[in-house]
Amino acid sequence: VRQLIANPVLEDGKVTGAVLLLVDVTEKMQRESLRREFTANVSHELRTPLTSISGFAEIMQDGYVKPEDVKRVAGKIYDEAQRLITLVGDVMEISRLDEGITEYKKERVDLLDVVEDCKERLQEAADRKEIQVEVIGQSFVFETTKTILEEVVYNLMDNAIKYNKEQGKVTVRIFQKDGEFGFSVKDTGIGIPLIHQDRIFERFYRVDKSRSKEIGGTGLGLSIVKHGVSCLGAKISVDSIQDEGSTFTVTWG
Ligand code: ADP
Repeated sequence: VRQLIANPVLEDGKVTGAVLLLVDVTEKMQRESLRREFTANVSHELRTPLTSISGFAEIMQDGYVKPEDVKRVAGKIYDEAQRLITLVGDVMEISRLDEGITEYKKERVDLLDVVEDCKERLQEAADRKEIQVEVIGQSFVFETTKTILEEVVYNLMDNAIKYNKEQGKVTVRIFQKDGEFGFSVKDTGIGIPLIHQDRIFERFYRVDKSRSKEIGGTGLGLSIVKHGVSCLGAKISVDSIQDEGSTFTVTWG
């Protein structure tokens, strides 16, 4: 899409020529359309839990909830409020990345420490699933932006737990070989059908919307991961077989 800007050239009050400027506005229009779509999606995602919270509170207020059901209904309100908190956090992170805030400071970071730290934070959510860390190589200390790296590792491990079987396994492998450096997060979960594999990194894209919602997903995690990976100067790929599991691999070099 091009925008034409025409300016007449005047000499002694007469038009003697014109300056034509063609500006390619395709990218700008695409950005604006994506932004509009994002805002519409966010509004919709915010409204759903808010409507539930308001509905549950109303039936409680009106005395329609039997005393023995109060705990269950309060639990539903709590879950929906948690969804809102996660969603608002994700949306804030996305707008931070959108603004192109790149002045994150770099420091010496040990990838193994980051993985172990995320494992500890996710231990409770993992419940009966096992999280195993494998190391192939010697040192994993490098200059990077720690907060972004943590976010990438955490989101991938969180998904590997969420989309896993009840007693499934998560294997995080850190590797350094043949000049390649990186890590992979493998699960024994539901897998991602091939036709969806390209799209899962899009904002709000979910393979199974109801399942993702049930487990507290916002559909924003992988888009944050993708953005984060590019900020870190790395690459991400996915390898998945339906009903067997998925492996997400992040590499540098
Ligand atoms: P969500 O908050 O829904 O988990 P994400 O952006 O993190 O959103 O992921 C997008 C979708 O990709 C998920 O809804 C799910 O359908 C799919 N997905 C992500 N990670 C995995 C995984 N490890 N195994 C299977 N499906 C996955």
